[in-house]
Amino acid sequence: MSAEDDTAGNEHDLRARIVRVAQAMDQAGFCPTKSGNVSARVGDGLIITPSGLPYAETTPADLVAIALDGRARDEGSRRPSSEWPFHTEIYKARPDVHAIVHTHSPKATALACARRPIPAFHYMVAYCGGRDIRVADYATFGSADLAANAVAALEGRKAALLANHGVIAAGATLEGALAIAGEVENLAGQYLALLAAGLDPVILDDDEMARVAAKFSGYGKVG
Ligand code: 13P
Ligand code: ZN
Repeated sequence: MSAEDDTAGNEHDLRARIVRVAQAMDQAGFCPTKSGNVSARVGDGLIITPSGLPYAETTPADLVAIALDGRARDEGSRRPSSEWPFHTEIYKARPDVHAIVHTHSPKATALACARRPIPAFHYMVAYCGGRDIRVADYATFGSADLAANAVAALEGRKAALLANHGVIAAGATLEGALAIAGEVENLAGQYLALLAAGLDPVILDDDEMARVAAKFSGYGKVG
């Protein structure tokens, strides 16, 4: 799927894909206590998962279409995810982003609670867009401050940790954003294992990470 497919594909198919991606992130164990949310850009707005509805019960009709200022675009009975402010601010700031997956995946969230960024201890950190995965400053969930902090932490990146909260993964496609969310959790597990063993990871230098990031930018499976 190219980036264009997310906007040009018909809305019916896009809604089905959002539900599939949301259920996949849930089944991966990334959404304890029905945390997390998923959205995709559509034209000059987005479609987002509803607030608080268990993923197993979510159907395409439960998703909510909103404008980039947060105004509802349909008469559906559901309220949009409480995190619509960071979804809309990321789409406004990042024309390259067409889909966003937010999780509370356990290992990445552990690092986020220690406010510990993930350094370039493995080349796959570059899969997430750059030389590290930053931690966005803490702000209350659903707030405009959290949205601003998330946009700052994502600058030049496809993933960020949210202090004392979780993960944001941003991609050109829904499936790409989900893959990034999965890789963040994988890297967090490896990094935590190193720390738990008392080992000192060797950090790859910026030139190497730039080389790897350039290779990924032409690599078909990256979101
Ligand atoms: P919503 O159910 O409102 O999307 O909230 C979940 C969440 O993770 C808030 O940060
Ligand atoms: Zn959350």
